[in-house]
Amino acid sequence: MTAPMDARTPTIVQPRRSEDRALPLIDAPVAGQRDPRPGLSGLSTEALREWFAERRAPSFRAQQVADQLWSGRDVSFAEMRTLPAGLRAALDADFRSDTVAHTSVRPADEGLTEKALHVLDDRRTIESVLMRYPARGLRRERATICISSQAGCAVGCPFCATGELGFWRDLSTAEIVDQVRFWSRRLATDGRRVTNVVFMGMGEPLLNAEAVIEAAAAISDPQRFGLGARHITISTSGVVPGIEQLTAIAPQYTLAVSLHAARAGLRDVLVPLNRRWPAEQVVTAATRYAHATGRRVTYEYVMIAGINDTPADAAQTAELLRGRLAHVNLIPMNPVAHTPWQPSDAGRIGAFADVLRAAGLHTTVRRNRGTEIGAACGQLAAELAAQPTPAAVARRRQILVERSAVALRGADASSEAAAMIDAPAVVTSR
Ligand code: SF4
Repeated sequence: MTAPMDARTPTIVQPRRSEDRALPLIDAPVAGQRDPRPGLSGLSTEALREWFAERRAPSFRAQQVADQLWSGRDVSFAEMRTLPAGLRAALDADFRSDTVAHTSVRPADEGLTEKALHVLDDRRTIESVLMRYPARGLRRERATICISSQAGCAVGCPFCATGELGFWRDLSTAEIVDQVRFWSRRLATDGRRVTNVVFMGMGEPLLNAEAVIEAAAAISDPQRFGLGARHITISTSGVVPGIEQLTAIAPQYTLAVSLHAARAGLRDVLVPLNRRWPAEQVVTAATRYAHATGRRVTYEYVMIAGINDTPADAAQTAELLRGRLAHVNLIPMNPVAHTPWQPSDAGRIGAFADVLRAAGLHTTVRRNRGTEIGAACGQLAAELAAQPTPAAVARRRQILVERSAVALRGADASSEAAAMIDAPAVVTSR
């Protein structure tokens, strides 16, 4: 049972566990079956050096291990032949060399898109996606991977399949970076490499900020994965403390904010976190990040026909972002079963973009990838789990129709429609 979310109350509600709507399981989890060993890739170089120092081994051993761990090859501890057998055995006793070893891949778009389903040690599943972009004109070939930061998600954006699955747990740093290592190894087989990493898979990254910030540091560390910080994007649906945490360290990552509506009543429906951190607060915090880093913030806007794509929505969005270091990315909604909604058509998206451009905002339209394999986050996991059930889909659709109708009338959806549904809880793992 989920408590109704009072958004503007600064209380963090306890994590909602999804016993009733659990993520897909390959087998039922068995108590005590979790592997207690953390993933080695989650350790900083410093922590790895300390581990060797405690065993009276020279510190260069740490770099030897890091080199092999991040080499782009699949290396078990037993195969780390530069280490003495005793140290290999000690590593194996204390750590796992890979936390996403059980992975299956589904291709789409004639091989340009691939989606991976990773099975974790507790049998929960998470997803990551590879999108290849061939060289075009002066643009070099790119390989962008979209990775997950949580198993499930508690934010509950209604257009998102992950939100419908509910929240299970945060991912560890190793579980996040091992998705990157997985794709790196796969791309290496045909001489390619990961060029961009986006934290836009399952979960709200800044509700797992500590692990996400550590993972991004590992990915951008020249002694580990070594991807330029400007090639990393951290997305958020508007967790203001998380944005402030990032601003304090001012990395060169791109910050992407899921805006989806400028008007409070409508954004309360589309991004329930808006009731805790309203759009104005989020945009103010994001603008501080932009000024601290000199990096333009990307505002993602999912275009839903007849819901948030009207001329009035375009004007309000332009007003909210005018004069800021902002780039707006319009994304036709990926249809998902539990909503009655459809993507806006090209004409509507074009008209929306024109309004934003007239306000001086840099605006692009994203092409959806991999729709035949359910590339939007959570779709594949939901399909494998046969969730949500048809009855849950029907109930959810009815609620969405009612809530969006309230919002479209201009009323405060949180007060008028909240009585109809238990709104998703704001969750923190801390
Ligand atoms: S869109 Fe992102 S934040 Fe919203 S429910 Fe889906 S995974 Fe969570």
